[in-house]
Amino acid sequence: MSTAAAADGAQPPPPATGRTGLGLTGTALTGLALSRAVVDRSAHLRADSAWLATAWADPRTRVLPVQHGRALCQVADGYARLTFVSPADAPDGVRFLLGTDAAGLAYFGVAGPLPEPDEPDVRAAHLREVGPLLSDRDAGLMTHAVALANWHETFTHCPRCGAATNPVSSGHARKCPVDDSEHFPRVDPAMIVLVTDPADRCLLARNVLWPPRRVSILAGFVEAGESAEHAVAREVHEETGIVVGVVRYLGSQPWPMPQSLMLGFRAEADGEQQIQVDDEEIAEANWYSREDLTRAIDTGELLLPPPVSIAHHIIQTWYGADLPGSW
Ligand SMILES: [Zn+2]
Repeated sequence: MSTAAAADGAQPPPPATGRTGLGLTGTALTGLALSRAVVDRSAHLRADSAWLATAWADPRTRVLPVQHGRALCQVADGYARLTFVSPADAPDGVRFLLGTDAAGLAYFGVAGPLPEPDEPDVRAAHLREVGPLLSDRDAGLMTHAVALANWHETFTHCPRCGAATNPVSSGHARKCPVDDSEHFPRVDPAMIVLVTDPADRCLLARNVLWPPRRVSILAGFVEAGESAEHAVAREVHEETGIVVGVVRYLGSQPWPMPQSLMLGFRAEADGEQQIQVDDEEIAEANWYSREDLTRAIDTGELLLPPPVSIAHHIIQTWYGADLPGSW
């Protein structure tokens, strides 16, 4: 594999700030690691077979192989960089156009086996690990590629007739050869919400599946035929017995592990209320003031979600500063 041929040359790695979101999701949530994107998705080129053939024949074209949510990355202290291959070195697998950059370079993903790394600091890495360490360009490319690769790995057959479907639209859809039905990547919307009480304390809960001390804000999938706001009110009430009044949307982050879109909210409890956990999903839940939380982190009593998660950033909007502790 000649990773060097398609790598970024000798330039120093771009800073991985993890805080340079587009700002499209609201001023409160600009540091979302997986909501960053620089490369234009170029949807108008997905059906242009002549352009696609030319781009694939161009040795400058950069291809990102992805398998089981992982891609080859150069990982060093505090930053990570995607390792691309040229089209000639790309593995077999479903190919999809990720887009084009300002210099006219084309980026593709391939859902297929990862090439053997040929440099000591290059290895297969999961999006959850390297997402916050990648540049804006690489974070957007890898999130897009992992989402599509996960879908192609899983949704291989027609839900109507059971026939094997074929990728179309440069890997952004699949089509059934028997009944001509078209199928698009599945994305499951989920809401995640920080609830405050009238004293501006924050509701943190521990899921029954999590280790001791780990807490976060409440989350759940939006059900069929339900608005995201209604899902917020329903999940909060089901899991903790709390009735919320005001619900405010903050922003979103794709979480393609395997196929979620996290919709972030703040909500206010409707007056003073007693917490009653459901015991099925939630093991315990409590109100925390900022002082309570700082102390619980200092003493190691609580562990908060890591910076790659939207939960971390939503808690930060309430806490008013970078969160203390480690994750
Ligand atoms: Zn079919």
